[in-house]
Amino acid sequence: MKVSKKESNVYWNPIIETLPMEKLRDLQFMKFKKILEWAYKRSKFHRRLYQEAGLKPGDIKTFEDVAKVPKVEKSMMRDIQRKDPFPYGEALCVPLEEVTEFRQTSGTTGTPIYQPDTWQDWEWWSESWAYLLYAQGYRRTDRVFLPFGYNIFVAFWAGHYAAEKIGCEVVPGGVLDTEARILKIQELRATAMMATPTYVLGMADTARKKLGIDPAKDLTIRKITCAGEPGASIPSTKQRMEEAWGAKVYDHVGATEVGAWGFECTAQPGGLHVNEALFLVQLEDIETGETIEEPGRKGKIIITALDRIAQPCIRFDSKDVAEWSKDPCPCGRTFRLIRGGVVGRADDITKIKGVLLAPAAIEEVVHSIKGLSNEFEVVVTKIGDLDDITLKIEILPEEEKNREAILTQLKDQLRLKTNLGYNIEVHPYNSLPRYEVKAKRFKDLRKKCE
Ligand SMILES: [Zn+2]
Repeated sequence: MKVSKKESNVYWNPIIETLPMEKLRDLQFMKFKKILEWAYKRSKFHRRLYQEAGLKPGDIKTFEDVAKVPKVEKSMMRDIQRKDPFPYGEALCVPLEEVTEFRQTSGTTGTPIYQPDTWQDWEWWSESWAYLLYAQGYRRTDRVFLPFGYNIFVAFWAGHYAAEKIGCEVVPGGVLDTEARILKIQELRATAMMATPTYVLGMADTARKKLGIDPAKDLTIRKITCAGEPGASIPSTKQRMEEAWGAKVYDHVGATEVGAWGFECTAQPGGLHVNEALFLVQLEDIETGETIEEPGRKGKIIITALDRIAQPCIRFDSKDVAEWSKDPCPCGRTFRLIRGGVVGRADDITKIKGVLLAPAAIEEVVHSIKGLSNEFEVVVTKIGDLDDITLKIEILPEEEKNREAILTQLKDQLRLKTNLGYNIEVHPYNSLPRYEVKAKRFKDLRKKCE
């Protein structure tokens, strides 16, 4: 489907989203220089970082020069925080009294990072989400339900405000439990919602088993925006969610310290658009550090938030891995596409029996097999000197009769997609752990075995 650029109801910002590539690069470069200068002048942390590299903002004369600017890693942010101006420390670029928002990272990979934002930053947050929700078909006629416990994490707060900005009606499902949320969705005939893939599938299970409600038939949710896990970019998981809800499911990527930088559009092109109006995303060869412009070559994602001022995010090393798509999107946006979304973090990709494995590849296989439940667990251990990998799964009760065929299919697909052999353990239905928001299905116990 080719959409005419004149149909302004397709884009949140019809001019920016269809700018020719050269003009987009010019805009990004202009904004990059501005934020670099801003951070250099106002943040002791950034100034020290650049001075140590012998770099001044004026040295950045061409777009290619951007790659010379030192990268920032999460661990560097940890070191400067909890100091003056308390609690953000030396990267804060505005007077403390201008900060209106506090959020923090979840701390799954270490001490949480505090994130200050000014009111202007908060407008920017909702603007970035407005681009993505609009691209996913959210309009004034939508009644959007947020089945989410609002708290110190940024997740879905900006989605809430962006939906309001677009003109949707927003229902905050905050402290309600899962059953109450489902009943409220039914009562109000909500048309859209935002949640993690684990929760989207968990809600559908609860609706069917505890309330006798089939979300695809009895509820009116027709689009779901996912975040927090790669599931909506894993084709088999996406399909499970779409079938369970009778809805279109869209992915988005973002992070507390970065912003909402990528989104899927209604064309579902098998990838995510980078919001190139608000972010500069660069891919870098994992070994050599070389900037990757060509499609089909995997690299680490380095992100700059071009307009965020309180605690700037300049060349942030996300540790995520992705590749550019070679085809433009049929939706007509000129924002580049990340092929297949962001399904692996450089940290998550692990070597087992000498083979590189991204846990998302196992999820893709398990969720592609009809007879298996949504739940599974992967445990890697060491027996003597050898890696040993066990996959725990559940067979759906109504599919028990096909047990042998299901297991054969599973083993074949795993071998084909991941190049590894597994010990398969079939667990009784409903016995593997269920997760409320984000699943922890991959357990690498090898370090403990050493
Ligand atoms: Zn598109």
